[in-house]
Amino acid sequence: MTQPAVPFLDLKAQQKRIAPELRRRLEAVLAHCQFVLGPEVAELEEKLAAFCNARHCVAVSSGTDALQIALMGESIGRGDAVFLPAFTYTATAEVPLVLGATPVFVDVDPRSFQIDPAHLERRITEVKAAGRLRPRALIGVDLFGQPADWPALNAIAAREALFTLDDAAQSFGATLRNRQLGTWANTTATSFFPSKPLGAYGDGGALFTDSDDRAALYRSLRTHGEGTTRYEVLRTGMNGRLDSLQAAVLLAKLTVFGDEIAARERIARAYDERLSGAVEIPARVPDSTSAWAIYSVLLRDSAARGRMQSVLREAGIPAAIYYPRPLHQQPAYRDHHDGARLPVSEALAERILALPIHPDLSEEAVVRICDTVISALR
Ligand SMILES: *Cc1c(COP(=O)(O)O)cnc(C)c1O
Repeated sequence: MTQPAVPFLDLKAQQKRIAPELRRRLEAVLAHCQFVLGPEVAELEEKLAAFCNARHCVAVSSGTDALQIALMGESIGRGDAVFLPAFTYTATAEVPLVLGATPVFVDVDPRSFQIDPAHLERRITEVKAAGRLRPRALIGVDLFGQPADWPALNAIAAREALFTLDDAAQSFGATLRNRQLGTWANTTATSFFPSKPLGAYGDGGALFTDSDDRAALYRSLRTHGEGTTRYEVLRTGMNGRLDSLQAAVLLAKLTVFGDEIAARERIARAYDERLSGAVEIPARVPDSTSAWAIYSVLLRDSAARGRMQSVLREAGIPAAIYYPRPLHQQPAYRDHHDGARLPVSEALAERILALPIHPDLSEEAVVRICDTVISALR
């Protein structure tokens, strides 16, 4: 007998849990009709800033726009080097390129998948020796929900006078040394895309900073560079505003967010216990907690991964590959790459496989997934 398919993500089950609060929030927006940057957006900014102990939160239209506004705020552009991991989502590299800057790809740690601070130092040295680009910024990505090694990254950035931008699109809700992500870099960007740990019902994102000047600049940039009145244009900005309906959804979800992070942690631990020894499980970043946006294991090689995927598919268990190609090998980006070898990112792309993880995944489903994984290895 075939068992029912396991959902990779279960937004319907979550919607059922929060239905009354969600409805109340959406109806408030329908009543006041301030659909863009309405009162829900201001309330969300206040609550998110309090959640991660940041002085300011500026809600915007997407995680990508949050990254872009942060780099625009530093006037980063032509001739500037922006260091970032090669093993991440495309948006991290896209944003510097859109602004005319050059992404400099850095390799990652083979066990935790996070940007490798030692390799970052070598890449900065290489860029300075080549003398073609000015080192300006570092985008550290907290991949799959775990934090990057911010103490090490900040020490390097301080020495090299780099602007630090934390791409926390997958990891809002995670902590490092008992401190929420949101204040580890000069500016932190997150995403509310529906599949992220804190997801809206459409696009959305936010910027966090402790700097009053940067927060004011981000508010101006998200609304076409406006000044104190709407019709005073101080700088070239963009349309980066957040909808009130998305803020309403996020406010409803925020009431259960802490419990959901705890549920993701329980599932990750169950995976760890059942799968360790069978496949390579993700190494925990020391002294941290994860938002577990993604739980990825490593198979021996790409053939073993292909076999695993087809066994899982047969059993109605979805598995995904984040990411099948490191960014320096993408057609859109490879001509901007200086040719440095990034062997860890290249190997991970061949071997990595993500298993379902979401707050409504049952214990029985986890057991079934793990039994299927282990049986496929025999
Ligand atoms: C999702 C994601 C983004 C982009 O966020 P959007 O809201 O989809 O624009 C940026 N960086 C990383 C690492 C992401 O996972």
